[in-house]
Amino acid sequence: MTVLPIIQPDNPILRKKAHRVTSFDAKFQKLVDDMVETLIEAPGVGLAAPQVAVSQRLIVVRLPDDEESRKEYGDQAGVLYVVANPEFVKLSRGVVEGVEACLSIPGYYGKVDRHENAIIKGLDRQGNPIRIKANGWLARVFQHEIDHLEGRLYIDIAKDVWKARPEDEETPVE
Ligand code: ZN
Repeated sequence: MTVLPIIQPDNPILRKKAHRVTSFDAKFQKLVDDMVETLIEAPGVGLAAPQVAVSQRLIVVRLPDDEESRKEYGDQAGVLYVVANPEFVKLSRGVVEGVEACLSIPGYYGKVDRHENAIIKGLDRQGNPIRIKANGWLARVFQHEIDHLEGRLYIDIAKDVWKARPEDEETPVE
């Protein structure tokens, strides 16, 4: 497995609408493995293929597996979600404000409204249909990553963006 370089917003790939995944061949499997490795190494809670300069609709998501996370997210803490061609089946009407950061925009944070709950469908790494029920922070991470597939960054929709302060260090990046 290889840790891939994460591109910055001056790279136009980050602003393009990504292509649907159509092949689940060995090359795709390597991309999945490399993205997982890159996510863990960063470390981050989510990564979309355009962030590693691959214009494909593929995301990997993993909430931390610590005690606090387990208390709040139960079985979903520490689970690795690999989703190709992800789509929202349902988004809750209510939105909640939260702080986000992005691996592609290091050193900045922003306040973003996201839907509180989401149901996501897509394909797993073998191409089998999957469906994920995400609440709270997990729902937020999926919305952030799926935005990447549309070429959208959190700074486009944030109410407030600021340069990292010492107290921001706790915020995981996506
Ligand atoms: Zn991001």
